[in-house]
Amino acid sequence: FPLRMAYQRYPLGGRTITVEVADPVRKFQTAVEEFTTVLWLSVPILLVLATVGGFWLSTRALKPVDKLTEDARAITASDLSRRLAVPPTKDELRRLSETLNGMLDRIEGSFQQVRRFTADASHELRAPVTLIHTAAEFSLRRERSSDELRDSMGKILREAKRTTRLIDDLLLLARAGSDPNAFPLHPMDLAPVLKEVVDQAAGLAASHGLTVSTEQAGGALQVNADEASIRRLILILVDNAIRYTPPGGQVKLDARSADGDLLVSVSDTGCGIAQEDLPRIFERFWRADKVRSRASGGTGLGLSIAQEIAGRHGSRITVTSEPGRGSTFTISLPKAGPV
Ligand code: ADP
Repeated sequence: FPLRMAYQRYPLGGRTITVEVADPVRKFQTAVEEFTTVLWLSVPILLVLATVGGFWLSTRALKPVDKLTEDARAITASDLSRRLAVPPTKDELRRLSETLNGMLDRIEGSFQQVRRFTADASHELRAPVTLIHTAAEFSLRRERSSDELRDSMGKILREAKRTTRLIDDLLLLARAGSDPNAFPLHPMDLAPVLKEVVDQAAGLAASHGLTVSTEQAGGALQVNADEASIRRLILILVDNAIRYTPPGGQVKLDARSADGDLLVSVSDTGCGIAQEDLPRIFERFWRADKVRSRASGGTGLGLSIAQEIAGRHGSRITVTSEPGRGSTFTISLPKAGPV
């Protein structure tokens, strides 16, 4: 039978003796065989336990993810007010649902803005179309004199022009919002543009009993801008200044350098804007006085377009105003080197 041996040599009185011990291996073999049997029996049981435990743990851990998925599925474009349930734990899932809820807040805000804009645009378009319809119906109801017909045609033309202007403004805003390269910027001289705007505005201002003046640093005013849209922006501001200033008032167009930028400002001595209205004037279709603005030809989109153009030039229009004393609209444009 197999033995396990060990030996040791010792020098003793000039000779070497060897001590040997032996132990039968059988008892170790029995222990190893018993251990192997136990192992074979316990491995499947442990595997089953680990599988069941793992499954239970993963279902428990993934339950909040299932809930998030279910909540997210229930959120549709027609019901954006729903939010994901935030788990009470302070872990990644809580942060994830809070972040997604924040994103949903922003999406809902944009959706509401688009809905309001569509409703306002339809409302604004309906008014002139109804007037055109009424004027045409009035003319056709019975025989009319040529004066009556001319009067009706005048009304129809006025409202058609208003509709065209409104559609042009809406198109410009839609294009500007969807095409980031709608206004490519080039180095240009702003001085002739300012002069042109002042000349153009002088006639309109005179018909309103107002004076227009300008003050600018001499020489070329080099800026990085898109000429057509920057002219439009300044015209909108000057047009508003003329429209909201009573006869006898003044409108001023200034251009001066500040911190490497060119500050262009349009100030008036008009009715001014109430402090609480200032954050709203750049909203589409917002007007302090709807009737007056419409009567004077305003579409309610002027300042939205102006702010959009300013944004494309990496700037924002700032306003200071005092009701009854006047307003100043300022835009800062990045200066360019000489062309
Ligand atoms: P609108 O076509 O009505 O002028 P805007 O977008 O240009 O539309 O202006 C929005 C509103 O801001 C105006 O209806 C008016 O109430 C106010 N506003 C704009 N510019 C001036 C100004 N220079 N003085 C006073 N109020 C102004």
